[in-house]
Amino acid sequence: MAFAEYPVQSLMYITNRPELVFTEGKGSWLTDHNGKRYLDFVQGWAVNCLGHSNQGMADAVIAQAGKLINPSPAFYNAPMIKLAKQLTDNSCFDKVFFANSGAEANEGAIKLARKWGRKHKNGAFEIITMDHSFHGRTLATMSASGKAGWDTIFAPQVPGFPKADLNDLASVEKLITDKTVGIMLEPVQGEGGVIPATREFMQGLRALADKHKLLLIVDEVQTGCGRCGTLFAYELSGVEPDIMTLGKGIGGGVPLSALLCKGEVASFEAGDQGGTYNGNPLMTAVGSAVIEQLTAPGFLDDVKAKGEYLKEQLLVLSSEFGLAGERGEGLLRALQLGKDIGPQLVEEARDMGPEGLLLNAPRANLLRFMPALNVTREEIDQMIGMLRTLLKKLA
Ligand SMILES: *Cc1c(COP(=O)(O)O)cnc(C)c1O
Repeated sequence: MAFAEYPVQSLMYITNRPELVFTEGKGSWLTDHNGKRYLDFVQGWAVNCLGHSNQGMADAVIAQAGKLINPSPAFYNAPMIKLAKQLTDNSCFDKVFFANSGAEANEGAIKLARKWGRKHKNGAFEIITMDHSFHGRTLATMSASGKAGWDTIFAPQVPGFPKADLNDLASVEKLITDKTVGIMLEPVQGEGGVIPATREFMQGLRALADKHKLLLIVDEVQTGCGRCGTLFAYELSGVEPDIMTLGKGIGGGVPLSALLCKGEVASFEAGDQGGTYNGNPLMTAVGSAVIEQLTAPGFLDDVKAKGEYLKEQLLVLSSEFGLAGERGEGLLRALQLGKDIGPQLVEEARDMGPEGLLLNAPRANLLRFMPALNVTREEIDQMIGMLRTLLKKLA
């Protein structure tokens, strides 16, 4: 079917989309309505951690859909219990609440911190967040985000989110008052351009939080679930946060997110938190299948090794074409282009033939790589080869 025959005008406009309708996906490859194949290094924005149409996930959906889809969030179900246990067994956290999107998990983290502040810190409610951070698209998470322009588009903002600078401990300390209840950050700023928080900064934040009785909150919606080579990115810094949120990778592509905290922080009372779909067995069964694969022996070592390999290959391209280097952790990496050719490269990569390449440019001078965690070295080589062809053409 030709693109013009799809009645796309019924969809609300939210962004410029290319005139392509994706019809199938398998592993690192997507197919469009013309049958053209694309090597996918975006994977739904770091969502499909096991690639497209993972067999373990598909089996979990089918088995669970035929058994029980949603008894109500006010009742226990077996997959919700199993996934919560998998997460507490594999992290420093004791309690889990499931939600449906990263923004919703972050809303939960904000509510939990404010509740804790009300109970244990004289009603303190301010959460220090970072400039250029991204925490979601609800009103509170947009207010928590440090994205340029987001303070005014849907004004007025939700108050209580003073902004500090990533990797500048003094800028955080300066904002601490008796109203402060927590500090929230991404261990690697994703949308901000793949900027890792340094180990020293994370450790400094932990010390500040301990000194002033604040909650350290990590938004691991993008960095969690193996993306950075460890199951959770906080592990890289050697500190234990008080609260963590997960999204994206935890569902491998289905709507699932989670709010985790230390036992002493879990302060919700009956009725404070909930949601129609939260913890439903259909999605938590998929999450369980995802975590099972991520924690299989050798899986994360392989992610780490492939992250190193991707890094080396990006550095080769960088020196070959006089670009500005690369940065990132694990399989969340960015190539610094040194000039604003990111959007053009993204378009040309997509449109090249016979096979296309899907890339993302969170900033005009940067390409971001978020392949499936089970991407092969051959696919990394293929991506680098395609990118080399494009860079040659531009040079
Ligand atoms: C994507 C993202 C979110 C928002 O997740 P949604 O599922 O789109 O609501 C929040 N925080 C970070 C760090 C993200 O990358």
